[in-house]
Amino acid sequence: MKKRDFIKVLGTGGLAISGLALSPGLAGCKNSCHLASSRKTWAWVHPNDYPDMAKTTSEWKWMFGDFKKWGITDVLLLTRKKDIIDQVLPVALEADINLHAWIISLEYPDAAIMKHHPSWYVVNAKGESCIDRPAYINDYRWLCPSNPEVHEFMKSRVSDLCSYNELAGIHLDYIRYPDAVLAAFHRAKYDIPQDDLIHPQFDYCYCETCRKSFKQTEGIDPFDLPDPLTDEKWLKFRLDVLTGLVNELYDTAHSNNKLLTAAVFPTPGISKFRVRQDWVNWKMDVIMPMIYQRYEGQPVEWIGQATKEGVEALGGRIPLYSGLHLAQLTPEELKEATLVSLRAGASGIALFTGNKMNDYYRQCMNQALKSIL
Ligand SMILES: [Zn+2]
Repeated sequence: MKKRDFIKVLGTGGLAISGLALSPGLAGCKNSCHLASSRKTWAWVHPNDYPDMAKTTSEWKWMFGDFKKWGITDVLLLTRKKDIIDQVLPVALEADINLHAWIISLEYPDAAIMKHHPSWYVVNAKGESCIDRPAYINDYRWLCPSNPEVHEFMKSRVSDLCSYNELAGIHLDYIRYPDAVLAAFHRAKYDIPQDDLIHPQFDYCYCETCRKSFKQTEGIDPFDLPDPLTDEKWLKFRLDVLTGLVNELYDTAHSNNKLLTAAVFPTPGISKFRVRQDWVNWKMDVIMPMIYQRYEGQPVEWIGQATKEGVEALGGRIPLYSGLHLAQLTPEELKEATLVSLRAGASGIALFTGNKMNDYYRQCMNQALKSIL
């Protein structure tokens, strides 16, 4: 992608790349007409089934034709294997929609990597590797963000995708630690303590690399802390470790003229507490909190509160698009969710998923988008 196109793809997404801190939604726009026309709408899109079972190219063309009609400007395509990009990128270009490769970042239950690089994987506060004792589900085999070899591996994954000149960006999902605490909605599905406390079997990461690194800076092994589960320095260390990895991936993407975007937990507070994401301090082009209200036992209006919390914490440094879960929203509720998001300062919305969109959702969404310019 040429530099000029790279900037264009940013759209209303601010210009964090150049170090300029513009208000979300105001980058390069002087009048509301331009603003309305340049507002972006994102959609996460799954290939037809899991694992990637590519649809035919004509099906993709039909789908992207609808996306264009519905006003979706940017598609985040789940990319488990690169060949999905080969198939869909030409279709996206033809439809004049920006395509981003959506990757599952640190949850990486790959048998070969687990076999050859067991030290890359996280260890809980009981000293158990997630390879032997995954939390919650079998796929909960997570890479440790403090391991330098994991950094190189993640950078190579991002670089590899950057080889597609016309790809707009890389989208990081699961860029976090395993859940130290689950939302009550999810927690109820497991035979685990039903409280909001951190329990050692879910507290990560105590691998050799993390312990050594913490001891070097703080002079103590985290296992020797009086209460490692609640120790603030130890928590901050882990937040900063993840931030360091994200920032390296940002530099990798930008050195290849790609945007870096991320799906994160719904608010800065929830993110830090449950999954150790300090996304307010990340280098990132666009932040998309997954504000899925039903998981939090909250009404649709809460989407506005969560959006406001994120927007205020970011202070205009990074544009925020509210991630909305269509399976949790009727079309009328999508309208309401879009309105409260925009009123709270979101630069726009991100739909989970584009696969679930239809004409009625589009009507309701666009009524909201057009009512707030
Ligand atoms: Zn570790």
